[in-house]
Amino acid sequence: MTKYKDLNVPLRTIMTPGPVEVDPRVLRAMTTPILGQFDPAFTNIMNETMDMLRSIFQTENHWAFPVDGTSRSGIEAVLCSIISPGDRVLVPIYGRFGYLLTEICQRYGADVVTIEAPWGEVFDPEVIIKKMHEVSPKIVAIVHAETSTGCMQPLKEIGEACRNADVLLVVDAVASLGGVDLKVDELKLDAVIGGTQKCLSVPSGLAPITYNDRIEKVLSQRKSIELGLRSFNSEPSPNRITSNYFDLAQLQDYWSPVRLNHHTEATSMQYALREGLRIILEEGLENRFARHKLNEQALVAGIKAMGLNLFGDEKHKLPVVTCIEVPNGMDADEVRTMLLEDFEIEIASSFGPLHGKIWRIGTMGYSSRKKNILHVLGALEATLLRKGFKVNKGEGVQAALDVYDDYQKQKNIETVEIGIEA
Ligand SMILES: *Cc1c(COP(=O)(O)O)cnc(C)c1O
Repeated sequence: MTKYKDLNVPLRTIMTPGPVEVDPRVLRAMTTPILGQFDPAFTNIMNETMDMLRSIFQTENHWAFPVDGTSRSGIEAVLCSIISPGDRVLVPIYGRFGYLLTEICQRYGADVVTIEAPWGEVFDPEVIIKKMHEVSPKIVAIVHAETSTGCMQPLKEIGEACRNADVLLVVDAVASLGGVDLKVDELKLDAVIGGTQKCLSVPSGLAPITYNDRIEKVLSQRKSIELGLRSFNSEPSPNRITSNYFDLAQLQDYWSPVRLNHHTEATSMQYALREGLRIILEEGLENRFARHKLNEQALVAGIKAMGLNLFGDEKHKLPVVTCIEVPNGMDADEVRTMLLEDFEIEIASSFGPLHGKIWRIGTMGYSSRKKNILHVLGALEATLLRKGFKVNKGEGVQAALDVYDDYQKQKNIETVEIGIEA
């Protein structure tokens, strides 16, 4: 085997909005021996995963399980399982992933109505609610954290309004789940999709979803078990779900004591997800959100101190993605190339109208660490200087260190106060 060398990849610092670095514990879990998908040792792991997912989605929903495939497989599974041809869906778009929702709904024959906000902004909830009353959709599908623009849509009023109007609210929380507080039940979200390779810090390949009984009711009306699994004299549902792979009515039977033999489970990915979820619950959701916030603050302070500008509405900034305006005359991709080649750090560009106009730095999951923040700031400063942009020398990393020092001082004060009370 001289032609194919050992697999030996560079050890990158990954600061993109996914995929992100994975905790070594998760990588180790992936080498666990394979189990059959109906082995009680494995179905027990499935039940534990459902349990942990409920905690992370902050929901009492019974249904919380991963769909096999990348994050969009979860989006597609939810949408195709509740959309019948001709159903009206309202999709508010404020970046690339709103277009993805639109596209998926259209492919399943929905009558899609869209409204758009400029990239870098979010919607005033009232605008969405007004449109919803105007077009009376069966479903509103919206992105919670728009990775392409670094913005986060407030959902509280929208959830309330949809529930009152008996409209199903489907939320793409692929980029926020596990990094930003999202209370599924409290916000009255009917179905929510997360992603593994973003804030859960697990490799790409599964899409955790949760949905409530309002969604389950739609599924039960469309239930149709494939011939060969069902008894041969029963009829398929006249309104069966178009996709076999993404048929939630069948998938939920695999994730229940029925254990329907639908697909062959990706057991190694399930090991990875279980370990990733366990790490999150060990850290605690509140601590985890606070860590993401602290590292974001340090990064933002550093970027500004360097003399760069943030892109987008700061009031609705997504804490786990920071978008930076590319200075005039600077070749955005050249900077990314130098960061990768010389510093082994990967940051992202953006899509469509924003390509070449902004850089995006992700601070998600295991990648959201002090070391990574300091490295990316130092490397970005050096790279920009090298490319002829006059940054404020040395100030970026110092500003970030100030944020960490202030946080530590505050923590020490709190510890002393608690100590006195005790
Ligand atoms: C990453 C992302 C997706 C798509 O995820 P894939 O895993 O690439 O299918 C969808 N929506 C949002 C908001 C994302 O950030």
